[in-house]
Amino acid sequence: MSNLRDFREDFPILNQEVHGRKIIYLDSAATSQRPQQVLDAVMKYDHEANGNPHRGSHALSMRATEAFESVREKVRSFIGARSTKEIIFTKNATEAINLVAYSYALEHLKPGDQIVITIAEHHANLVTWQQVAKKTGAHLVYMYVDPEGRLPLGELQKIDQKTKLVACTHMSNVLGSIFPVDKVIQRGHEVGAKVLIDGAQAVAHMPVDVAELDCDFYVFSGHKMFSLTGVGVLYGKEEILEKMEPFLYGGDMIEYVYEEETSFNELPFKFEAGTQGIESVVSLGAAIDYLHEVTFEVIHEKEMELTEYALRRLQELPYIRIVGPKDLNLRGAVISFVVEDVHPHDVSMILDNYGVGVRAGHHCAQPLLRFMEVYTCSRASFAFFNTKEEIDALVDNLNEVRRWMGYGSK
Ligand code: PMP
Repeated sequence: MSNLRDFREDFPILNQEVHGRKIIYLDSAATSQRPQQVLDAVMKYDHEANGNPHRGSHALSMRATEAFESVREKVRSFIGARSTKEIIFTKNATEAINLVAYSYALEHLKPGDQIVITIAEHHANLVTWQQVAKKTGAHLVYMYVDPEGRLPLGELQKIDQKTKLVACTHMSNVLGSIFPVDKVIQRGHEVGAKVLIDGAQAVAHMPVDVAELDCDFYVFSGHKMFSLTGVGVLYGKEEILEKMEPFLYGGDMIEYVYEEETSFNELPFKFEAGTQGIESVVSLGAAIDYLHEVTFEVIHEKEMELTEYALRRLQELPYIRIVGPKDLNLRGAVISFVVEDVHPHDVSMILDNYGVGVRAGHHCAQPLLRFMEVYTCSRASFAFFNTKEEIDALVDNLNEVRRWMGYGSK
């Protein structure tokens, strides 16, 4: 391992106990913890540069503008966009998807058109298109996963000449599968559709290059990649964003305002109405610096080691059913599982007694879980700071869960 120091020490929140046990955080897919470097960057901004960006010519406003816009450049370079005009700050990935729905899809789709998504979408990337379909008269068509939770390439044939928009997750927040988004994008473009990729679960785990992918839109949230909550990103191709109407109206997104008419600001500002979550944006910049420091090489190596170990140990338990691919190829560090005869909320609450935090429920993907006939499950998700000992604690305490519920560990 090329890791030179223990990155775990960067996360002050991990130095505490819950219920008298050392905390074991296995829920990074819900929200990631913040390293000290990110917290320090926010504090430094508030100590030295807080002002309202783009709104004043005094020192603090200009420092705030510099801080805010420098993060836009960091994001551009982080995802390989061609121009900062293509980087729009939003509140989160959900808002970024809704921006595309309102400003692009509701304007362009009509009865008879088709929107194609996968059954594995998070509600943010599913309900939004379902509602767009209802409002426009377009059909919503699903590409289904196989029993292992992978997207068979044959499903891509559903992207046909009627398809105007395709929305697909880069990595499933339930199955852990990494989807063949390059092929989805290629197929979408063959039929002239626009393609949106939901990168909420991908950007903190693998390098993403939107220019190489050639997607039309790419969305993600900062809080799943070590920044504060309250900031997300919409990447959109400049020529498409240029033609889109603003999503929200107000300050900073305008050029001239008259009593009856308004002309709008240029990209990217025409999509950023009102005062933004500046500290959150600053924290996103620091999170990108931090990811560069750790490197995706180390992240991948560590996460795969943990995932391989967890899959192996979990499968030693006869009462565990993994929901998602079991082979390491094309999967990330998210493992959903069912504990036979125990409700996931009981699993989560009992594990919490031992300091282990996992997610329980439908994971904002009800149609997927219904399709997989699972309905509800538990999920452990890892970051590079987790350890094999923590996975041992998860597995050992799953035996305790079964005992608490009155079953043996067999
Ligand atoms: N897409 C995926 C795949 C997700 O995992 C999530 C968050 N769980 C979202 C979208 C929505 O992210 P946010 O709530 O930050 O908007």
